[in-house]
Amino acid sequence: MTQISPPRPRLDTSLPQLGDWGSEQELAALQDAQLSTTLRWAASSPFYQARFTGTAPVDRAGLLAQPLTTKQDLRDQYPFGLLAVEKHRLATYHESSGTAGRPTPSYYTAEDWVDLAERYARKWVDIRAEDLFLVRTPYALMITGHLAHAAARRHGATVVPGDNRSLAMPYSRVIRVMHDLGVSLTWSMPTETLLWAAAARAAGYRPDADFPALRALFVGGEPLSEARKARISELWGVPLVEEYGSTETGSLAGECPHGRMHLWADRAIFEVYDPRTGRIGATGAGQLVVTPLFREAMPLLRYNLEDDVEISHAPCDCGWALPTVRVLGRAAFGYPVGNTRVTQQRVEELVYGLPLEYEVLFWRARAERDRLRVEIEVPDDYRTAACAALVAGIQAEYAVPAEVNGVPVGTLVPGHVLTGVHDVVKPRGLFGADEDWDKALLYY
Ligand code: AMP
Ligand code: MG
Ligand code: ZN
Repeated sequence: MTQISPPRPRLDTSLPQLGDWGSEQELAALQDAQLSTTLRWAASSPFYQARFTGTAPVDRAGLLAQPLTTKQDLRDQYPFGLLAVEKHRLATYHESSGTAGRPTPSYYTAEDWVDLAERYARKWVDIRAEDLFLVRTPYALMITGHLAHAAARRHGATVVPGDNRSLAMPYSRVIRVMHDLGVSLTWSMPTETLLWAAAARAAGYRPDADFPALRALFVGGEPLSEARKARISELWGVPLVEEYGSTETGSLAGECPHGRMHLWADRAIFEVYDPRTGRIGATGAGQLVVTPLFREAMPLLRYNLEDDVEISHAPCDCGWALPTVRVLGRAAFGYPVGNTRVTQQRVEELVYGLPLEYEVLFWRARAERDRLRVEIEVPDDYRTAACAALVAGIQAEYAVPAEVNGVPVGTLVPGHVLTGVHDVVKPRGLFGADEDWDKALLYY
């Protein structure tokens, strides 16, 4: 019989905690102290073994001499080419949300999960034992749902696993559990919280008055402008706490009490890569490059996430001594209209800059050759005012012709999506004489 060695426990206390350093120099020393272990782990991965021709890197200089690891590398190594531990030690396997083609795998040990869950849990609105925590991101393959779930469990909260890609949890049910159970914290994409606001209204509730247990909305996964953030916060009457992360890495940055997103640089080394010049540095604008320090199952050295970001080391009033990041995402480039480029971020800011009383929750826009066409959902009473205000806003910003149409509520997000409930049934073969046997097997 083969002896299976028990997993080596990595004590929680060995992970750096906020407050373990007082300056950037001390933070760099923390990184260096862990980096030799990280590089040793990487040397056990077939992919890095093959890259480390001659001697393997042992310190920061060695790391910085390594080429970047790309998304394509991850795909080429699908499924287990980056595995650096015995396979039985893996706790979970994930793939990122990417579209068709070869998947981007990531996997973690139980010890890796301690770091993952702790990074997620670093929220300035803390997760407590008395919280009811609604997880409303996917559980299938991606990490996001499991990340929030694990963090909430670690802090003793009661998890309500809501998913957002499951037939079992339509919007009407989300609103029911939020209201009836007294959900106090949620985790979702920002757009989701707007859909809840519409679903709450459709159910006869006022988002800011009829959910008194709600303390905060944790959001991430898509770009969020200041105006949209403020609008959602106004609608629900609670703060939004943003974070930035990915399936390949877990949480990378989270918000401080002063509203800025800080990179978790005690748990990973961050760099910025400018693909035009090839320059890689610690600050400035470019693509985010990350070396997670506490990940043994699938070490990643200088992994290029290909997200456009801007990193700054300017001090923040929170005193964390962690760099701040602005995530521009891939939408930063925008689309041409006339002689200018229109970005999603700016249109979003203009839409959510409209007065709250106009009740505009949803919009879409199309960058045509010489005009910007926008549709907003707006109740009849405010249609004229809202459209005029938005046209004026767009013209002040871009000096291109804009056509704004106010469409009836329910046009962009149909009412049945917000109020519908489907039967989620178990498989069944035998039916009564007057039952509908077309339902046989229709549980998928
Ligand atoms: P996934 O690869 O499916 O795990 O999704 C992760 C991607 O979502 C990141 O690489 C970013 O492009 C995007 N993302 C996550 N959080 C944010 C955020 N707070 N702001 C902007 N984009 C984000
Ligand atoms: Mg991704
Ligand atoms: Zn701060």
